[in-house]
Amino acid sequence: MHFTTLASGSSGNAILVGEDNRHLLVDCGISGKSLLHNLSHVNIPYSEIEGIVVTHEHVDHIRGVGVLARKLKIPIYATTGLWKAMRPSLGKIAENQQVDVQDSFSCAGLNVLLYPTSHDSRESYGLKVTRPKRQDRGDLAVGIATDSGRITAEMHQHLKGCDAFVVEANYDDERLWNGPYPWYLKKRISGHYGHLENKQLAEGLSEWIEGNTQRVVLAHLSEENNTPEIALSTVLRILKELNISKKCPDVQVQVAPRHTPHELIILRE
Ligand SMILES: [Zn+2]
Ligand SMILES: [Zn+2]
Repeated sequence: MHFTTLASGSSGNAILVGEDNRHLLVDCGISGKSLLHNLSHVNIPYSEIEGIVVTHEHVDHIRGVGVLARKLKIPIYATTGLWKAMRPSLGKIAENQQVDVQDSFSCAGLNVLLYPTSHDSRESYGLKVTRPKRQDRGDLAVGIATDSGRITAEMHQHLKGCDAFVVEANYDDERLWNGPYPWYLKKRISGHYGHLENKQLAEGLSEWIEGNTQRVVLAHLSEENNTPEIALSTVLRILKELNISKKCPDVQVQVAPRHTPHELIILRE
């Protein structure tokens, strides 16, 4: 099983998850053209993408969804509420490409579970993407959580023990409050329906990482209120303070680049 981020941050988000030659996208918040360009950098042929799962209707998650679905002739998976919220922004989508999902479904041979996050969109979801067990292979899971103002009970429930994570480290408290954003925006970002702060995320992560966890990718970093160095050092410091290396000595933590793809991460069996 493999995954990567293709773009990450408020200028646009897209995550790829797959196995062998079947893949799904989680969001497409960059243009269809940029998405195809970034995909070629991780050597994934676009003909192998089988669907786009949408987490919520904010433009940094759906900008290229309509164009890409039309170009690749692939279905879009979203809940009824998200369909209502985003349909006007997608352009014309054929009936058979509109898949109305509830909390779990399968796409590209993987099981997808949606759970709510706490965010100021009509609806907003995190995902757990699982590769089902087969004769010769155990199950593997990638936990995804961006765009949440707080760590929710559902995150604890579904993210604990995932083999890999793509999780939001949006801002650094000090940088946000001492930074140039207007007061209302600072309140919005740090509020219950905004985004996750580095330390907040690290504390959640410390409970989700188990002995089997291999990789963590920090995602959706704010350009103004965070830096890759601050996010990484804060998360590593807290994981160290909480003695996470005891239960998981070789977990690797990295930061998703904003405009370019992260390297393709292939999970060990
Ligand atoms: Zn959002
Ligand atoms: Zn976002």
